[in-house]
Order: sequence, then C-alpha cells, then structure tokens
Amino acid sequence: MEQTVLRDRYGRVVTYLRVSITDRCNLRCFYCLPRDCGLSRSAEQLDFDELTAVVKAGVALGISKIRITGGEPLVRPGVIEFVRTLRSLQGITDLALSTNGTLLGDHAAALKDAGLMRINVSLDSLRPTVFRAISGRNELDRVCAGISAARAAGLHPIKLNVVVMRGVNDDELPAILDFAAQQGAQARFIEYMPLGVGQRWEASYVSRAEILTRIRARLHGEPPRRQPGDTATYYALRNGGEVGVISPVSCRFCDLCNRLRLTADGKLRPCLTSEGEVDLRAAIRPRVSSAALCACFHAALAGRPQTGRYDTTPDRILAGPRPMAAIGG
Ligand code: SAM
Repeated sequence: MEQTVLRDRYGRVVTYLRVSITDRCNLRCFYCLPRDCGLSRSAEQLDFDELTAVVKAGVALGISKIRITGGEPLVRPGVIEFVRTLRSLQGITDLALSTNGTLLGDHAAALKDAGLMRINVSLDSLRPTVFRAISGRNELDRVCAGISAARAAGLHPIKLNVVVMRGVNDDELPAILDFAAQQGAQARFIEYMPLGVGQRWEASYVSRAEILTRIRARLHGEPPRRQPGDTATYYALRNGGEVGVISPVSCRFCDLCNRLRLTADGKLRPCLTSEGEVDLRAAIRPRVSSAALCACFHAALAGRPQTGRYDTTPDRILAGPRPMAAIGG
C-alpha cells in the first residue's frame, strides 16, 4: 500500500505536528505570555480524547513526529497519560515535549516511564535576577533541578532553548554553553522573534551572526551541520559538543518547513507567522469524525504560504497575532 503523505502546493512534505495542550503557564516570560494576555476558557481547549483523535488522524496522513507544548504542558493534569497514549500509537517515530522545566523535578521519571523520547527545556538565564526579570518568577533553582532530574531519569537528548536578547542575556552565552556541557545537554540559541507581544523586539533582537561572534572562542571551526527537518544549524564546539543556532528572523528556513501547529484552543495553524487558521475544534464538536479531521489537515496544508512573514510594524507586534504561549512556539 502506498504511504500517505501531506504534501503542500510548494512540494514540502509535512511530517511534524506541534500540539499545544494548554495556553496556561506558571511563568510570565515577557516575550511569550505577557501579564495582561487573555487565555482561552477550559471548554475551548480540546480534551485529551479529542487531542488523541487529532494526532491519530495526522499520523494516518503521514505525520510521524509529535511535540507536546504549551503554554506550559506540565501544568495540565493528565499530560503523563497523554504521553503514554501517544507512545502507544503506531507510526509515531519521534515524541518530544517542550517545557520551562519548573515541574520537571516532579515529572521527569514519569515522563520517561510513559515513553517520552526527548525533551527541550527553556532556560534564558543562569542569573537569578535576570531569570526573574524575564519570567516574572524566582524559579531558576527549580528549573536547574528539573534539568538534573530529566538527566537522572534518562531523558536524552536534553536541549536547552535560549532566546537571546540584547541587554538581557546576550552576555551569558559562554556561561550557558558551560552549564549545558556540565548537564550533558545541548544549548540552542534562538533569535528573538517579533511575534504578538515582542514590544521590546527591535532593540532586543540579536542576529545569528552576532550570536556566533559572541561564542566564536568556543567554536571548533568546522562547517556547520543541518539535520533534515530541524530548524537549528549545529556548530561543533571545542569541548567536543555542539551548539544549535535557530535563526527564524535573519535566515529563514521556510523551504524546509515540515510542520503544522495545533493551538491550545483547537486551531490548526498552517504557518507560525501567518494568522490564517483552520477551526478544527468547530469541525469535531459535538462529535469527532475522522473525515472532518482529515479535511482540516488538508485545509491547513492548502493554507501554507511559500514564505512566512513577520509584521514588525510596532503596532502590530503589540496587538497580535497571538502570544506564543497560545501557539506553542
Ligand atoms: N513552556 C514551554 C517552554 O518553555 O518551552 C513550551 C512553550 S514555549 C511557547 C516554546 C518556546 O517558544 C520556548 O523555547 C520559548 O522560549 C519560545 N519563544 C516564545 N516566544 C518567543 C519569541 N518571541 N521568540 C523566540 N522564541 C520564543
């Protein structure tokens, strides 16, 4: 039997679904989920049966990689069982989760036991005052303990995602590389994106070129490596490890885009930067139907632009589209 694929009109095959299971978060990172940001009502969130049906439909159409994200996915009760359910589905070859790490100390072992394959932890600063200034909370110690717990539980690889911001944490990059090496983790430096709430974006943005300059002394100098389906470019480090740099602003990778996103309130998003969404929740309530789900995936596929576009007009950055916490990163 021929393998089904989701191919868009530009020839790109979609194999990756990012599933935001909540827009709630126990941190308030100013670039992601500002204090006055509206959240969806719980009735607007898909329940785990609905989420599982969406994933199953995606897998039947050719999705093989799932990332559970949020908001903070570990604040939603039932997430461990959801991981277990997804792991039992045939056709998923990569099952990952993105977290801010604050609750990992409690959940790392259970996540591993449920079948989670790998984990990304956000860590923007190793300085308690800076961590608090970014996230609004004094949780740095808990995040570090969570990373250790993930390692002890055997979750591997652990990737540490760092949004690099000028005047905030851009002087910490070598220290973060050292910390990652101590933890057996890999740091990934991400360009700050002008999405939804990045009111300080223009002044804070640091390009990939500048990130590389700041860590030049640590780089081995070999040509960088790119993994198919991955948004990061990897650079060898002198200490034997690698660092990833993700440059969605200065060096777009739309030609390689293999993903769709399911928002916390049940919308399928064809592209991170565009506002067109498919209302999957409306299509599956009151009754989940595979045909309706299949139609939603194809509608989202049809909505994929050749190239995404950030609207960096200051008013637009402030007003919308959605905070990243609702999209899932
Ligand atoms: N709570 C989880 C976490 O902390 O990873 C998952 C959700 S969070 C929205 C996913 C990722 O998006 C995080 O690594 C976060 O730093 C990143 N992110 C959010 N807003 C961003 C922005 N404006 N530019 C770049 N990355 C951003």
